[in-house]
Amino acid sequence: MPATTEITQALKTYWGFDSFLPLQKEAMECALDGRDSVVVLPTGGGKSLCFQVPAVIRPGMMIVISPLISLMKDQVDGLVECGVPAARLDSTLAPAERRNITARITAGDLKLLYLAPERLLTSGMLDLLGKCPLSGIAIDEAHCISMWGHDFRPEYRQLGTLKDVFPGTPVHAFTATATDQVRADIARQLRLARPLVLVGSFDRPNLVYKVERRIQRVQQIRAALDRHPGESGIIYCIRRDDVDEMCATLSSVGYSVLPYHAGMEDHARRNNQEAFDREEVDTIIATVAFGMGIDKSNVRYVIHAGMPQSLEHYQQESGRAGRDGLEADCLLLHSPGDYAIWKRIQQGLSREAAGIAEAKLNDIYRYCTGAPCRHRALLAYFGQELGKDNCEACDVCLGEIDSMGDSLEIAQKILSCVGRLRERFGGEYTTLVLLGSREERLLNNHHDQVSTYGLLKDFPKRVVRDWVEQLVGQGCLAKFGEYNILRITPKGKRVLKGEEAPQLLRPAEKPARKARVTEVSWEGVDADLFEVLRQLRREISNKRGVPPFVVFGDASLREMSVRQPTTRAEFLTIKGVGEKKLDEYADAFLAAIEEHRRERQPSP
Ligand code: ADP
Repeated sequence: MPATTEITQALKTYWGFDSFLPLQKEAMECALDGRDSVVVLPTGGGKSLCFQVPAVIRPGMMIVISPLISLMKDQVDGLVECGVPAARLDSTLAPAERRNITARITAGDLKLLYLAPERLLTSGMLDLLGKCPLSGIAIDEAHCISMWGHDFRPEYRQLGTLKDVFPGTPVHAFTATATDQVRADIARQLRLARPLVLVGSFDRPNLVYKVERRIQRVQQIRAALDRHPGESGIIYCIRRDDVDEMCATLSSVGYSVLPYHAGMEDHARRNNQEAFDREEVDTIIATVAFGMGIDKSNVRYVIHAGMPQSLEHYQQESGRAGRDGLEADCLLLHSPGDYAIWKRIQQGLSREAAGIAEAKLNDIYRYCTGAPCRHRALLAYFGQELGKDNCEACDVCLGEIDSMGDSLEIAQKILSCVGRLRERFGGEYTTLVLLGSREERLLNNHHDQVSTYGLLKDFPKRVVRDWVEQLVGQGCLAKFGEYNILRITPKGKRVLKGEEAPQLLRPAEKPARKARVTEVSWEGVDADLFEVLRQLRREISNKRGVPPFVVFGDASLREMSVRQPTTRAEFLTIKGVGEKKLDEYADAFLAAIEEHRRERQPSP
């Protein structure tokens, strides 16, 4: 049978999908051919299937190396739900379970075996694996092998000997980390032989990015949460104290939230993560400690209550939203103070590391205060281009913020005010002068006499204050010292001379357009039926002890609520329904759909 047909059949039979995500087909064909590969796709790009589908088809067992037990567990649960014989061996298993899995390995029963890197190369494991043919070795989160990445794990380094220990076995590395340096390092460290390198687009078209200046934190966050009642999401805070405070505030007004940070006991953290996975709590409020182990596909919003420390972090953290390809909101709230908080946190770094960290902070600050399309700006940072004029999925392109036509003139007023104040005051004070404030300290300094006093009095304070920060972000002003005194940079001087023009933004006065970002959105979805099916999914997942998204993704439930299948044959055509799920769940879901339909019919 031709390779593509085999792949298409397995994809439909086990996973219930009938099309590929970008580069999946190429990656699967390569693994099926037994050639080494490095596959770089964004979160939600469908990397797991790139090795799982070939594993099902090729003779022998695929070893999958994964850094975290929670990731392995979700993937193995997902595979078993689809009818693929898969297992994991890790320290949490009881001896009897371990013996059972060992027996299945020896009997050649398994198509995929998940292991932590340190376990693979133990002598006991090598003896065991020596007895069974391998179809390949897949390395998930492969950037963990590179010191250039942001997640280096020393235990990944041992994987450099794989090619000696398993000569002739193809190795496939997967990562979402985009930089060339990390990519090249992965291939070098693993000593891959002429690997096929596949690099996808890093754009996440289903994520709607918005950036707001933080003015009333709790109100802004509540407004974002209220757009997603009963749905899963994450709020990231910079510090542990912020997490605890935000948790107390939001739960006191009835939101379903739990904290997650490195200051908590291990078991408490694990419980909270599991409650999130099982949809017993809607929102996790976390520091960056809440990270890699999250495989949940239906995270509908990621809110940053403070500015992240770099665009890489932002990409990764916000990227946890919408892995299922359905639309999701990413809101970033920032305030100039965040920059200083990060500087303080980073104080212990070596000189070189501090320099890199500062450059990254400047990049993200520029992103927060800048004007271009958010999708375009993020892609540009990772060296890629957006292939369209309007992304239809960010505050700039949706018309939520207006670019000021007279940006140059406004910028010149602000910069010259900084000059008139002899570069001795901060952003807040400068704003007050521009607004023509009657505050006593300002009058005492006779700053009501300077020529720029009251020049921007027709604008609201928060808008003017924000413009000052936008000029900092765009490199026209710089902050100095403990009090963040403003100084005019060489770029600012060129703006004053009219040789260069920054772009200033303000919130739009007209209502913004709605984002339309995915094929399967809420269009035509019977929302009540969706809720009924969600409840049924939760009951089934509780009974089976697996997270709900492993039973069916949100996309499958939405399609069921739109198409409302009445027969098993129709049910099988829903995306995400393979043969095992048809057998296991068709009856329960068809009955629920039928009952809902009957209740809806007007009584005779
Ligand atoms: P990654 O590991 O790259 O972040 P995953 O492998 O977790 O991505 O896949 C993300 C989501 O996309 C999952 O919900 C998965 O079921 C879904 N998915 C993967 N491949 C396809 C496909 N060909 N068609 C539809 N959905 C897919």
